[in-house]
Amino acid sequence: MSRYLIDTYRSLEVYTPGEQPRDMQYVKLNTNESPYPPSPAVIAAASGEAGRLQLYSDPTCAALRDVIAGLYGVERENVYASNGSDDILNFAFMAFAGRGGRAYFPDITYGFYKVFGDLHGVDYTEIPLEDDFTVDPAKYHGKDGLIVIANPNAPTGLALSVDAIEGILKTNPDHVVVVDEAYVDFGADSCVKLVSKYPNLLVCQTFSKSRSMAGARLGFAIADAGLIADLDRIRYSTNPYNVNRMTMAAGAAAIGDNDYYMQNCRKIEATREAAAERLRALGFTVIPSKANFLFAKSDRVDGETLYLELKKRGVLVRHFTAERIRDYDRITVGTPEQMDILIQKISEILGD
Ligand code: PMP
Repeated sequence: MSRYLIDTYRSLEVYTPGEQPRDMQYVKLNTNESPYPPSPAVIAAASGEAGRLQLYSDPTCAALRDVIAGLYGVERENVYASNGSDDILNFAFMAFAGRGGRAYFPDITYGFYKVFGDLHGVDYTEIPLEDDFTVDPAKYHGKDGLIVIANPNAPTGLALSVDAIEGILKTNPDHVVVVDEAYVDFGADSCVKLVSKYPNLLVCQTFSKSRSMAGARLGFAIADAGLIADLDRIRYSTNPYNVNRMTMAAGAAAIGDNDYYMQNCRKIEATREAAAERLRALGFTVIPSKANFLFAKSDRVDGETLYLELKKRGVLVRHFTAERIRDYDRITVGTPEQMDILIQKISEILGD
């Protein structure tokens, strides 16, 4: 920190991204990326746009929003495109809570919510998950501020039903409910179908996981046109060209190749279930996941030791130090071959 940084930001506890080491080739199961590459059409679209990089991108993102709207059965005015879904979450904390405003989210969830809350001076409350890590929707009824729910939740992988979320929406008509569906394509039910009914619902999704574009930074929100206009006010006050040309073209091509990506999701789900079974056979407790990762613990090795021992053997998983979850590791579902290596290394570490 330099002596020039203002006090507001000195004590900020910043988000720690999953490690992206360059020292060796790891089996990388730590940041929930897709193990499958973008489709050829996406690569061609991004490359095609490279020759036009001297021009700014379209600040309205019209072409991309139209194809997303077409896929989800909404209108362009209901779609917002962003530089990763982190940007949407950031803007949502700014626009719908802000300094001194209130927000509610689970104690165990995506770590960035707390960071955005701190960044914007929001008075937030972390509502404890139940002992089995489920979210009790009743605890979010009738609140006096912004509500943010990751569905499926991270890092647990557990999902709420659309009915449970509808209960939260109904009892909070004066406040925005953000449903962060970063992992929804891996088997959970989407709340997009509720958007026409609830002007306080903001669904956000990302191209980073199910659409193999983490490195391109593309997220989107689907909501009532009013909420989209609110996000746009913040966007036009920060960075109107928040989605670059190559990413915009790649995103539209990915929607055009939706079948390829949904087939990958089905493969990942099958790999997830097989890996969960094998971990259980090794004595692990594995939380039932609707995401592209597994959250697992063993009585025979603690979460941090397993993470370190796997890293030594060239496999990266994610370990969190928070008290309630420090026994666990979060393991991204890779290819079947990557999961074979994971299981083999874990067996070796356990001495089986
Ligand atoms: N929400 C959740 C729950 C996540 O795990 C992530 C990925 N770290 C994001 C949002 C953000 O994803 P991106 O910015 O890559 O769209």
